Amino acid sequence: MKITDINGTVALANGVEMPYFGLGVFKSRDGAEVINAIGWALEAGYRHIDTAAMYENENGVGEAVKRSHINRKEIWLTSKVWNSKQGYDSTIKAFQETLNRLGTDYLDLYLIHWPVKQKFTDTWKALETLYEEGKVRAIGVSNFLEHHLDELMQTAKITPMINQYEFHPRLIQPELLQKCRSMGIQSEAWSPLMQGEVFEIKELQKLTNKYNKNVAQIVLRWNLQKGVITIPKSVNKERIISNSQIFDFVISDDDMKEIDQLNRHHRIGADPDNFDF
Ligand code: NDP
Repeated sequence: MKITDINGTVALANGVEMPYFGLGVFKSRDGAEVINAIGWALEAGYRHIDTAAMYENENGVGEAVKRSHINRKEIWLTSKVWNSKQGYDSTIKAFQETLNRLGTDYLDLYLIHWPVKQKFTDTWKALETLYEEGKVRAIGVSNFLEHHLDELMQTAKITPMINQYEFHPRLIQPELLQKCRSMGIQSEAWSPLMQGEVFEIKELQKLTNKYNKNVAQIVLRWNLQKGVITIPKSVNKERIISNSQIFDFVISDDDMKEIDQLNRHHRIGADPDNFDF
């Protein structure tokens, strides 16, 4: 991944160029909160928003995009089908409902939010149909471990272009990263800042002086240098701006390795092999 600036992109397996930096909006409240956050992000140069039906803020995301007067084609919109809607027909319907709430007629990326057993292969068929019909520019999965990818590929016609999973200095999953790479699947990090926990890691605080960057900036830059797309969430204007100021420094190879050493296989979210929602 060649890292240039906030508008830099990475080519997915189908040739579509996806911005490798974006704004996450999980837990950003629908209405003013998410509308303001996206407004500030777009002003700061972000062109990629990551939402999901489950976040219940797609209306606000759509409203923010409309208010920005930026051409829809210049903004990358990702959404995800929620677990209770999985299955072929219900996914097709859920996708249309997402489009309606977002006020758009296509998505840039649609993901299976979690690998719901006995459901995700049919859900994937629906995503393939939506892709073939040109309603979405790229399709992918989220929270898929190696064995979920293997199971999916037994019936899939199209290999997922993205796998979005929990990824941060305490949970690197090098084997999963490598497996995705070998399958041509681009990895994307969720909770890159560990929903705030990352600020407690002493070793990262030490690097802040060296690079004159804060912990969030170091971790987000490390994401990109690992070749992983990143979508930090914030609803605070200063933090939204500062999280994007990661294109004017480079973490040395030695420090990249130091950060890799922080891996503890520690999850802050659910285990994809054991979730009950
Ligand atoms: P993040 O790791 O992005 O952390 C967000 C938290 O960190 C918020 O509390 C935010 O508070 C705070 N924060 C952000 N920037 C800073 C900063 N510079 N300094 C101090 N605090 C900061 O967590 P998320 O779980 O939101 O992950 C990012 C995105 O990934 C989500 O929004 C969502 O789009 C996606 N995601 C996908 C999942 C999936 O299953 N596919 C699961 C979870 C997330 P504040 O807003 O007040 O700034």
